[in-house]
Amino acid sequence: MTTIFDGPFIGNCQCAQCRTLNCTYNQWKALQNAVSCCGSVNHETGRNPIATQINDKTRAKNADIVSPFALAETPRLDPAKFQDPDVTAKGETRASVYMTGLTTLWINTGTLCNLACASCYIESSPTNDALVYIRHDEVVAYLDEIRADNLPTEEIAFTGGEPFMNPDMIAIIETCLERGFNVLVLSNAMRPMRRHEDALLSIKAQYGERLTIRVSLDHHSQTVHEGERGANSWDKAISGLKWLSDNGFAIAVAGRHLADESDADARAGFQALFDRENLRLDTDNMDQFMQFPEMDDQADIAEITTACWDILNVAPDSIMCASSRMVVKHKGADKPTVAACTLLPYDPQFDMGQTLKEASRSVKLNHPHCARFCVLGGASCSA
Ligand code: SF4
Ligand code: SF4
Repeated sequence: MTTIFDGPFIGNCQCAQCRTLNCTYNQWKALQNAVSCCGSVNHETGRNPIATQINDKTRAKNADIVSPFALAETPRLDPAKFQDPDVTAKGETRASVYMTGLTTLWINTGTLCNLACASCYIESSPTNDALVYIRHDEVVAYLDEIRADNLPTEEIAFTGGEPFMNPDMIAIIETCLERGFNVLVLSNAMRPMRRHEDALLSIKAQYGERLTIRVSLDHHSQTVHEGERGANSWDKAISGLKWLSDNGFAIAVAGRHLADESDADARAGFQALFDRENLRLDTDNMDQFMQFPEMDDQADIAEITTACWDILNVAPDSIMCASSRMVVKHKGADKPTVAACTLLPYDPQFDMGQTLKEASRSVKLNHPHCARFCVLGGASCSA
């Protein structure tokens, strides 16, 4: 039997089958002293079924949808790029980012979502539980580690999937606030959030603006938003956003712009929408509005070398992974693990271990997202 490693893999597979088959992936991880077993790699194909767990029905539905944000005209990624964590395809030293201090800890609440957006970077859907619901006690263990090691963490941020589908979500938010952290929750503001109106009002009465809810509104037009998120998703999202705004919550909106639309034009479109709907949002306020670049990891992009910091005048400590990490719980895993950032929950190169201490080492920028989203796009997931 031939075992190949043609990626993408998820998890640090060191299981007996992998060792017996002398899988090249196993050898690569062995060099990095990885010891845990994800138990889910298909060793014959070299692919992990978790990444493609969306069922046939959802896949067929998504296959029919071409995201209005797709970068169709962009040349495809050179396969020689992003192979060696230390060296680029041109033989130059790959850039890395050192941890300056964990100011934001992201927690992935699970990949299940009430929507199945055409280009959801984490492949969320009503059926994809590749990342399972994190439990209250598992979150508390990380809060305890922050306290024990006196880490400079100010904010606990939550993303999914749709975080309000996690049955422990309200208790988790309350505990984080009780412990003195600010809390940011990324939500689509639809039915899963609206089920918790009473609890959210009570939390807001007690903690005020220490809880921020950031709503993803893909575009300022209903047509494009629903082209990405599906029919009937616009009115419910606007209604949820209005409920938050009318009730005085600290809110933010994350949007995108089309490939042929300038940042300024999209910003003007969003401000017109906010004014029309009487939403307390200002697109010039960076805490209230942000636009993210498209995240097509198959579109060609430059690799980031150590020389790039000076050439681009970008400081490594301004990059998201200098000051944040994301806790995830892979399906079938005993415990959560810590990923380098919110963008790469499935890539084993960016699996930093089980504890925040283990995860505080430098991150090598060996992924197209590092270039497009962080260094060249200049985006950050923090509100
Ligand atoms: S709402 Fe967010 S998490 Fe859910 S499918 Fe859409 S992009 Fe993914
Ligand atoms: S994609 Fe993640 S690992 Fe790469 S530079 Fe951005 S934050 Fe760091």
